[in-house]
Amino acid sequence: MQFISEQAQEMGDPAFSKRVREISEAGLERCYQCLTCSLSCPVAFAMDYFPNQIIRMVQLGLKEQVLSSTTIWLCATCETCVARCPNEVDVLRVMDTLREMALQEKVKGKETIIPIFHQTFLGSIKMWGKQHELSMLLLLKMRTRDIFSDIGLGMKMLLKRKLSLLPPKVKGVEEIKAIFERTKEGSA
Ligand code: SF4
Ligand code: SF4
Repeated sequence: MQFISEQAQEMGDPAFSKRVREISEAGLERCYQCLTCSLSCPVAFAMDYFPNQIIRMVQLGLKEQVLSSTTIWLCATCETCVARCPNEVDVLRVMDTLREMALQEKVKGKETIIPIFHQTFLGSIKMWGKQHELSMLLLLKMRTRDIFSDIGLGMKMLLKRKLSLLPPKVKGVEEIKAIFERTKEGSA
């Protein structure tokens, strides 16, 4: 866990704070730093900033620190923080908004693998309407340039038919693609 330095607090970008508030509609101005979200978060121990700190940093407009943090990628979207926040701040929507902003602004953060997985997973949903594990894994391997690390496990899964060679057949793929296009237009 890191602390927010006084120097960093003076360098805030109010436009960033406003944008996150408008896109997320998470009510983050209601946060009074009670720490309930961070004390409830199952992965807070692994984050560089706790969820309550991320909320405070967004309020202060600390764009660079927030978008490059590991926290936004380690958030497991479990919604525990949302259920327990006494002020109904939707921390998860803030995390979602920050992830999309980090991707769109091509921020090179401290976490490198999870953003690639995130994009690969969403790409598979957009393409097939459902995840197709085999093509997703191959793409992930190429993008992370980690081709051979668990090839034996992959072969075993293929032989046991745990990985389907053919992509799934899903009705309404065009509608799913249209949703992706619409959210792209309306997102960060
Ligand atoms: S639980 Fe809610 S009010 Fe408390 S620190 Fe977290 S976001 Fe802020
Ligand atoms: S949604 Fe994310 S930030 Fe909130 S408790 Fe779950 S893992 Fe932690």
